[in-house]
Amino acid sequence: MEEEQNQNNLRTLFNVEKISKNSQLRDILDLIPSKTFAPAFKDLFERLRRHKHLEEYAILPNTLLCVIDGTQYYSSKQIHCDCCLHKEHRTGEITYSHAVLQGAIMHPDKKQVLPVMPEAIQNTDGTKKQDCESNAAKRFIANLKKHIQDKDLWFVVMV
Ligand SMILES: [Zn+2]
Repeated sequence: MEEEQNQNNLRTLFNVEKISKNSQLRDILDLIPSKTFAPAFKDLFERLRRHKHLEEYAILPNTLLCVIDGTQYYSSKQIHCDCCLHKEHRTGEITYSHAVLQGAIMHPDKKQVLPVMPEAIQNTDGTKKQDCESNAAKRFIANLKKHIQDKDLWFVVMV
């Protein structure tokens, strides 16, 4: 937007005048563990719940639909880290990647979706078996239950 229209949402909505370049933002954000952002999602969800906006998304009484899907957002044959998923090809070549399981509360009659905290699909220290979308989904659902304080609220999770 800045290059095409000489304005952007950071300036017009949030009054941010000096904006870092994309590469600098990546350098900074890459160092922050993704779990750091979980409270922002929890806070958003709690505000929506408290102000009864979640009721508009109920597909059944006290039941929300959470749709999840995995997506790969990084892939390289050269650059990798300890958390990378890896796939060895028949040629012996290895492809390294990062993926995430993203979820959102949806309703068939609503255009807007409510994103919830994504779950990284990544390897961790000391684990020999690779992480996968199914295991990430188990963690995702456990975290979804943990972050929702309302015991009367149910979720249908759809892949
Ligand atoms: Zn990596």
